[in-house]
Amino acid sequence: QDDPVPTTIRDQFPILHRGDGDPLVYLDNAATTQKPQAVLDAITTYYTTVNSNVGRGYHTLGLTATDRYEDARETVRAAIGAARADEIVFAASCTAATNLLAETIGRRLVGPGDQVVITGMEHNSNLLPWRRLCETTGAELVVVPVGADGRVAEADFAAAMGERVRIAAIAHVSNVLGTVNPVADMVARAREYGVVTVVDGAQAVAHREVDVTALGVDFYTFSAHKMYGPMGIGVLYGKWDLLGDLPPHHVGGGTVKAVSHAEPVRYVGVPARLEAGTPNVAGAIGLAAAFDFLRDLDRDRVRAHDAMLTRAVVDAVDDLDAVRVVGDPGKDPCGIVSLVVDGIHPYDVGSHLDAHGIAVRCGVHCASTFLDSMDMVGTVRLSFAIYNTVDEIERVRAALRTVRPGFWTAEHPNTRFL
Ligand code: PMP
Repeated sequence: QDDPVPTTIRDQFPILHRGDGDPLVYLDNAATTQKPQAVLDAITTYYTTVNSNVGRGYHTLGLTATDRYEDARETVRAAIGAARADEIVFAASCTAATNLLAETIGRRLVGPGDQVVITGMEHNSNLLPWRRLCETTGAELVVVPVGADGRVAEADFAAAMGERVRIAAIAHVSNVLGTVNPVADMVARAREYGVVTVVDGAQAVAHREVDVTALGVDFYTFSAHKMYGPMGIGVLYGKWDLLGDLPPHHVGGGTVKAVSHAEPVRYVGVPARLEAGTPNVAGAIGLAAAFDFLRDLDRDRVRAHDAMLTRAVVDAVDDLDAVRVVGDPGKDPCGIVSLVVDGIHPYDVGSHLDAHGIAVRCGVHCASTFLDSMDMVGTVRLSFAIYNTVDEIERVRAALRTVRPGFWTAEHPNTRFL
């Protein structure tokens, strides 16, 4: 099969050309993607020409930095189809955004006897904040099971909705199997019960055109670093009716209109109220550059590329008797394929691939509850970015042919890479 990834794309990623022997085969993009030169340049240019604190200094540099930060917010708004720029809150990460929600709207809406619904495929970052909320408020966490096909049945999700449910928190795309949840339908169903929806888009934004308005979600969270942007910056999108009214999560500089020791504190509006302290300005600018990069790539092309690589993996392991693809990633490919090798622990498979210069994630992928429900100790996860090639999948196949049992056993507890 011809490799349709032009070298012009690979050339934009300096880390792929480190020049220390074999080229890096990086198939751990669901953990974090590599960064194109345009993103690195946007960050460097900010620090070398504009760096100043934002929303504070009334000098030219400070005002320019503030403009660039707000421009980045507008870029994110346009990229995800939000109605207003102040519906975009910059957070440290997807995880930070979800915690913010659990601690603000969660505490406002959820009380004893109420329910919060999640699915059985959630990453710990979209499980633990809700679990802690339930534990501390006397609410019940309801987990909608994932079927044998790796999907949440619509009937099961619908059955979980009801008068006691306050919040439904669901992954857009599973970070273990790449399953794409029918978010628009789930949100519509939740709305029938007045349930507030939170969608974890961490694994979606690099692979799908996300339109929060079309999806109808109340809140949507993601991290920049999984979509070619920098670490340390993420987004909380919220519908203005709900978001605009949230109390501050952290308090401090940048959140207040007036403070005196005698009077009640008066806070500024959202988003500044939810971005206490000095924000990650360079991160926001890098994120905006990453959205520009994705726009120029064209998501249809990204989708076709994901489908091609998924097919290549499925074909490559077809005649390797010991290797099995988990779930059905070919159905709606979204850049993730999980494999298991009979009789060989995923950690050993991962180490073997690493010895062949191939970086993958192995283990439970911060979703041990999902792996437990499938009665699995872990998987070997191949996750794609636009720079991956069919040739790299061939290298995985060649390495898998020689993998042998090693140190880890199925009985061994997952103590290393939770
Ligand atoms: N949700 C999902 C589905 C993820 O894959 C991840 C990252 N592995 C997160 C949430 C958390 O993202 P971050 O660590 O960037 O906060």
